[in-house]
Amino acid sequence: MSYDECYVKSVIRTIPDWPEAGVQFRDITPLFKDPKALRMISDALIQRYISSEITHIAAIDARGFLLSAIMAHQLNLPLVMVRKKGKLPGETLQQEYSLEYGTSAVEMQTDAVTEGNRVLIFDDLIATGGTVLAAATLIKKLGASVHEVATLIDLPDLQGSARIQEAGIPVHALMAFEGH
Ligand code: AMP
Repeated sequence: MSYDECYVKSVIRTIPDWPEAGVQFRDITPLFKDPKALRMISDALIQRYISSEITHIAAIDARGFLLSAIMAHQLNLPLVMVRKKGKLPGETLQQEYSLEYGTSAVEMQTDAVTEGNRVLIFDDLIATGGTVLAAATLIKKLGASVHEVATLIDLPDLQGSARIQEAGIPVHALMAFEGH
């Protein structure tokens, strides 16, 4: 089954003004209720990385976990988690990042990756890029390198993917949507 962007986009549901006014929330839950769309996106991601030199997939909390687990299983790669503050047990490293109002933080376990590892970061959507850049900082602090960032949806108007690329990290998005 070949990847059909129009079909996949038609399955993603847009919820206007949620969770706050002005945001067009791109709801990916219908993708997981539609086996054809899920097959198309997972196959497209797996094919991209089947011969790559990545050694680990870093999955971002929480919607990023779902497709990362499929990729890790199919590519026979270890999966590590980048979680919101306070969710991971044991020894962790934390990185703060700014939101429109205030700050947030993500954490990784200190033994998640190490020197010499080449990590693919995956999240469902890139908006401002703050979450992914914080994840990349953690991965580098642990001694590993970031091979690429993969995502389903890029919101290019928010400049997040441009910021990530300016930081020297390639971005691969399956599709883009206009606006916030
Ligand atoms: P950012 O750090 O600004 O790139 O935000 C990315 C995270 O926020 C992702 O994990 C997304 O799940 C979520 N997010 C931000 N904006 C949207 C949106 N318009 N629709 C759906 N999810 C969003």
